[in-house]
Amino acid sequence: MKTTKSEKLFIEAQKYIPGGVNSPVRAFKSVGGNPLFITSGNGSKLIDADGNEYIDYIGSWGPHLFGHNPQFIKEALLEQIENGVSFGAPTELEIKMAELIVELVPSVELVRMVNSGTEATMSAIRAARGYTGKEKFIKFEGCYHGHADYFLIKAGSGALTLGVPTSPGVTKGNARDTLTADYNDITSVKKLIAANRNEIAAIIIEPIAGNMGVIPSDKEFLIELREICTREYIVLIFDEVMTGFRVAKGGAQEVLGITPDLSTFGKIIGGGLPVGAFGGKKEIMEKIAPSGPVYQAGTLSGNPLAMSAGYAALKYIKDNPGIYNTLEEKSKYLEEGFKNNLKSLKKNYFMTRAGSMSCMFFTEDNVNDFNSAVKSDTTKYGKYFHEMLRRGIYLAPAQFEAVFVSSAHTKEDLDKTITAHYEALKEVE
Ligand SMILES: *Cc1c(COP(=O)(O)O)cnc(C)c1O
Repeated sequence: MKTTKSEKLFIEAQKYIPGGVNSPVRAFKSVGGNPLFITSGNGSKLIDADGNEYIDYIGSWGPHLFGHNPQFIKEALLEQIENGVSFGAPTELEIKMAELIVELVPSVELVRMVNSGTEATMSAIRAARGYTGKEKFIKFEGCYHGHADYFLIKAGSGALTLGVPTSPGVTKGNARDTLTADYNDITSVKKLIAANRNEIAAIIIEPIAGNMGVIPSDKEFLIELREICTREYIVLIFDEVMTGFRVAKGGAQEVLGITPDLSTFGKIIGGGLPVGAFGGKKEIMEKIAPSGPVYQAGTLSGNPLAMSAGYAALKYIKDNPGIYNTLEEKSKYLEEGFKNNLKSLKKNYFMTRAGSMSCMFFTEDNVNDFNSAVKSDTTKYGKYFHEMLRRGIYLAPAQFEAVFVSSAHTKEDLDKTITAHYEALKEVE
């Protein structure tokens, strides 16, 4: 077989970049094969270095709610470029951006801009620690909060044993302060709190999990979590880096009707540029420097170029609230198509969806936490992935990721995807 341009580029990339990529999931390791090198994106489509066109369901891993390179974001960027891309001094645009976030997400009273989702979650944990004067925090197995040391910890073998680092380079010291509970299991949270009384500064959770496949949380579970945090003087942090501005203009907290103390954002908030944000209750956020003693800073934070793209994205959402109905209709159409296919093929794979985020798990059992998610047959997913790719459908190269529908996906795209899904599944086993 002839070597493709993408294959040649991947060989070249590996000479200069670890593993040839700047973020590991891009390398196709969990599905096998070589990553595609992309040359352009427009609407629902991506074009690779060999000129192949794909209908894209990754959307740059979440940011592209409106599809690739929408005109209104491009125009905002070009306009800002004329005026300069970075000043390291305050701009009026930052006020407009913050004001809009506060308006769209009512639990946010003050907000600080950063440059990625990881920075947002790191900073939110520090704010919670600084505010409460406590050091430990609870996260949930299977939730992802970026790559800061103290998030790369998984539960030890027993429920109350110390956590263990999931990556070399993360210290045991970090593992001591990170406690891990089970998603949708309030008892596991209560046990950790009982064993660490007055030591827990924060509980951080993806209110709709999107990094172990898509797993919506039980509302009852979240209500109890909220009550426990209030009672125990624990800061409840909703990590809405993926769900923020995706499942609703006010994120998962709007859909679920639960108010966190702090929220973190990323992805859509940058309109495709590297942006993150954390914000919430005034009395906590006021602890952040320079209004308070908790240090947090960034040379390019609130960068005008990034803000122009992010502001354009959020302004579009504010002015076009109907976009969430459109996304819901399109996503439901795709879901129903997939479900009909499964029915005709007599397969019963478990499907989940929260608005325009969805996942088909290669298991027939119910999935509601990490342990049930990992029962999925990832070898089958890998096969399915490549069968879809051959048919021009670009899905995430890993089972435990979301399928993102954008407002740019057309009925024709969705129909083509549903047909490909049927044919691909026929090839799997
Ligand atoms: C993507 C993601 C992050 C990390 O954001 P980066 O911009 O990749 O650092 C954190 N939390 C959640 C829920 C995410 O989906």
